[in-house]
Amino acid sequence: MSGSLGVTVLGATGSIGVSTLDVLARNRARYRLVALTANRDVERLATQCIAHQPQYAVLADASAAQQLRERLRDGAPDVQVLAGSEGLVKVAGLPEVDCVMAGIVGAAGLLPTLEAARTGKRVLLANKEALVMSGDLFMQQVREGGAVLLPVDSEHNAIFQCMPAGFVPGSGHPDGVRRIMLTASGGPFRTTPLESLSQITPQQACAHPNWDMGRKISVDSATMMNKGLEVIEACWLFSVSESLVQVVIHPQSVVHSMVQYRDGSVLAQMGNPDMRTPIAHALAWPERIEAGVDALDMFKVARLDFEPPDLQRFPCLRLAQEAWKAGGTASTVLNAANEVAVQAFLDGELAFTGIPAIIESTLSRVAIRAADSLAAILEADALARQCALERVSAGTSRRVSS
Ligand code: NAD
Ligand code: MG
Repeated sequence: MSGSLGVTVLGATGSIGVSTLDVLARNRARYRLVALTANRDVERLATQCIAHQPQYAVLADASAAQQLRERLRDGAPDVQVLAGSEGLVKVAGLPEVDCVMAGIVGAAGLLPTLEAARTGKRVLLANKEALVMSGDLFMQQVREGGAVLLPVDSEHNAIFQCMPAGFVPGSGHPDGVRRIMLTASGGPFRTTPLESLSQITPQQACAHPNWDMGRKISVDSATMMNKGLEVIEACWLFSVSESLVQVVIHPQSVVHSMVQYRDGSVLAQMGNPDMRTPIAHALAWPERIEAGVDALDMFKVARLDFEPPDLQRFPCLRLAQEAWKAGGTASTVLNAANEVAVQAFLDGELAFTGIPAIIESTLSRVAIRAADSLAAILEADALARQCALERVSAGTSRRVSS
């Protein structure tokens, strides 16, 4: 096994985690699985442990971890089961780990992802919320820890592939780049009549036309908050201001993003919409490995369309751009309010159009401070969650009493 890279997959049971395990299984000689983690899905994690035999398995939920221990007694008795946030942080920073897939959804991924950066790993970043909520601190940990930060988000991975040779995220403004063109599918409601948006159900919002993803990011794609978070993600990764990141609606999701240069050149990265491509790219960079993705057939694609986004239809995109401009903890507050609002929508407690309303109201109520320490970031996150929850229940009680 010597010479192979040790890998921890944070969020192994999710959409990104499952795709990562698929790519790893196609390239067994190169990688050695050190740890798999999940929130509380005992059955799925047990099945993965039996198939892949990692050294460690971690469940964030302690009682679920106890069940996993019992469940693995026969099929994978050598797997060490850990629990809680400490367990997640531990497997992100182990010395035998070279590479960490940050595939947890939301702020729950912040601490283990920061630990991977602090301990100098190759950090494969899918968990954009971690970067959005703590940008400056995150990039500082990457620099100080000597980590290599590689984007897995398909757009940012595409942009990275189109960057000048030698560029790595966090190394400053890339030479000769005029602007970044961040593509967006526009989600399932790009052409839905505006007056019907308030009636949209979680099931409709989670049915993305081109990508098969977890529920939270699917709702973010439907509101276009996903693109808003990605604008902020691009600003941090590529050291540009938000005015240099142009959002381009491209319904086919074949061009995964573009970089425009000073000399007029535009470089695009294309491929079938399958996350195994950016995952394989980030795992093997600067080499290329098998990802199991079908070759792109340009005759089947036939045409590529591009149009500007409609900020009236997608107020979340505007809110994210404003939060980036406001600086400090504004992006932390935006992210936390969005997580609360999306969960409330998925739980049937909030209308689809209530999501931007909750975020805007939270941003106007929570004081924005300097985001200069982990404590300041965690405090802003907690205050914003509390405020957003209050706004959701105020709305719920109004609806119930009317
Ligand atoms: P998912 O919901 O399918 O999976 C989330 C994973 O995180 C699961 O393994 C779950 O057990 C774990 N998790 C959830 N809450 C946790 C907690 N409190 N503590 C510990 N673990 C927890 O989500 P996904 O679609 O795989 O997305 C994961 C991340 O990747 C998100 O940040 C998303 O924005 C990003 N991303 C996803 C895609 C995609 O195609 N799915 C594309 C680009 C970026
Ligand atoms: Mg994306």
